[in-house]
Amino acid sequence: MRSTSLTCKATNCVHNKNCDCMAGVINVKGIHAKNPSETTCNTFVVEGGYSFDNLSSMHNSEKTVPKAIKCSAGNCKYNEDGKCYADNVEIMAANACCGTFEEML
Ligand code: SF4
Ligand code: SF4
Repeated sequence: MRSTSLTCKATNCVHNKNCDCMAGVINVKGIHAKNPSETTCNTFVVEGGYSFDNLSSMHNSEKTVPKAIKCSAGNCKYNEDGKCYADNVEIMAANACCGTFEEML
């Protein structure tokens, strides 16, 4: 099996543990996104504060892997039917956007 991983630089998110995401499953939004900055991890919960997505659990479960991402960025070449097929995904610090997004040409 290929090795895949998700790293996250949004270290102010409650699910972030040393740049691993411990939410288990995440939702990435970006239905009209044409570049990485137009996507965002909607499961982001700022430490001690509000969440973007109140459907998500505040509790950590297990390390999130790319295949556990639900993603609405249909213009991304790694997206197929709302699932992410990138081997390695990097969520960025700025707005918890997906730095791995690549526009399908
Ligand atoms: S911003 Fe998203 S990917 Fe990063 S730790 Fe939080 S829930 Fe996980
Ligand atoms: S790489 Fe593409 S499909 Fe995967 S989470 Fe990022 S934007 Fe969504």
